Amino acid sequence: MANIKICLDAGHYGKYNRSPAVPEYYESDMNWKLHLMLKARIEEYEGVEVILTRENQETDKTLFDRGCTSEGCDLFLSIHSNAVDDFVHEDVDYPKSIVQLDGRGDKLGLMLGECVKELMGTKQDVLLFKREHQGGEYYGVLRGAAAVGTMGIILEHSFHTNTKMTKWLLDDNNLAKAAKAEAEVIAKYFGLKKKA
Ligand SMILES: [Zn+2]
Repeated sequence: MANIKICLDAGHYGKYNRSPAVPEYYESDMNWKLHLMLKARIEEYEGVEVILTRENQETDKTLFDRGCTSEGCDLFLSIHSNAVDDFVHEDVDYPKSIVQLDGRGDKLGLMLGECVKELMGTKQDVLLFKREHQGGEYYGVLRGAAAVGTMGIILEHSFHTNTKMTKWLLDDNNLAKAAKAEAEVIAKYFGLKKKA
């Protein structure tokens, strides 16, 4: 019996957000790979069910609908890498956790951000971030998650406008490490135990 239900969301679809630092890198590809790896790792724990917001990478769905997919879940987590703009910025590398205005995602958001910082070896500290728009959530996926009562977090895996960080994210072995470590953080937060 699953007690905890988690909805994972891969940011963007198709080929989206190409890195100006390492042209082979598309943020959408990394997000898709990592969220599948993370699903498999979370499923190594007992009493947890993981769903995804989309069946394939090519299909788009509105941000709000993606958030709403998490109805009945304990967590909505959207996977991303960040960008300063369309140019290379080697001095900017902080992990960023965007959490909802009510503050309930602060603790897990910070834990996940710290996990990314340690894994990727960012120079800058984690930024825990909230943004309000007209009395509600600014970000569509978090607005959707909030509409169905789910704690929502957008996790930015450093910046694909930074060469070192982008190369790190292009390596599937690193993504596998990230999936394992982030699953451990989520398991710790919800008190999940590994399957025998
Ligand atoms: Zn993104």
